[in-house]
Amino acid sequence: MQHRHGWKRWLTAIAAGLMLAGTALVPGRADGASAAREQRAAMTASAARGHMASAAPVSWADLQRRYRGVFVLRAVASGGRRVALTFDDVPDPRYTPLVLNVLKRKRVRATFFVVGSRAAKHPALMRRIVSEGHAVGNHTYSHPELPKLSLGQVEREIERTGETIRATAGFEPAMIRPPYGDIRPAQLEWARSRGYIVVNWDVDSQDWRQIPAGVVLRNAVKGLRPGSIILMHAGGGAGQNLYGTVNALPRLIDQLRAKGYELVTVPELLHIPERKRKPG
Ligand SMILES: [Zn+2]
Repeated sequence: MQHRHGWKRWLTAIAAGLMLAGTALVPGRADGASAAREQRAAMTASAARGHMASAAPVSWADLQRRYRGVFVLRAVASGGRRVALTFDDVPDPRYTPLVLNVLKRKRVRATFFVVGSRAAKHPALMRRIVSEGHAVGNHTYSHPELPKLSLGQVEREIERTGETIRATAGFEPAMIRPPYGDIRPAQLEWARSRGYIVVNWDVDSQDWRQIPAGVVLRNAVKGLRPGSIILMHAGGGAGQNLYGTVNALPRLIDQLRAKGYELVTVPELLHIPERKRKPG
């Protein structure tokens, strides 16, 4: 039974992925495309971490070693039983308020990775994220695959988003999360030279697969350890259903607290500033 259900979910996820991939082909639908791209790249990323055939030339673990303090998957130094919840692709008027409501009710502060084009459209939501004590990071302006971009293009994606966040939050964030977690070493060199810290994750809830809350919950605690950074989404592409995330969140918070975990923001977890320092 369990297996048949697993397969059904898997097939549903694949079908949803294909539908979203279809929308990605429609020009001028960057937001709609983002979900499908996120899915494709997340698969590539997990393949890379699993050292499969399609692996990227450099694994995330290698990057974390080579770019210590610049490319981060989790907190390595022990700082007690602390973990961080992170939510990508915000602000989204459908899901971000629902996620914020749960966090407020549970008195949890989390970290939100902001897409600049969305922040420009929903400044009130941006102000709410910040005023409720959450940390924010830069998730690029148009959610492109960074490895395909030149350094100049990457710089424009990041700086334009930083300026948009400054307009509502009052500061530019130090943290960058690349779309799909994908970034090249040369781009990491650039990030380091500009005082940015690239923050990915070590635990993937896989909520972008539009899976039920129970599965989101299970994924979000699989492999979890002190210092972990958990990937979730509070925004999606056109038609993407993130109610699994919204419904899993209260239970996830309760479970983590029952296991003695303290939920903190990424800057608190990593002991880094939230605001970007001026380079040079
Ligand atoms: Zn994203």
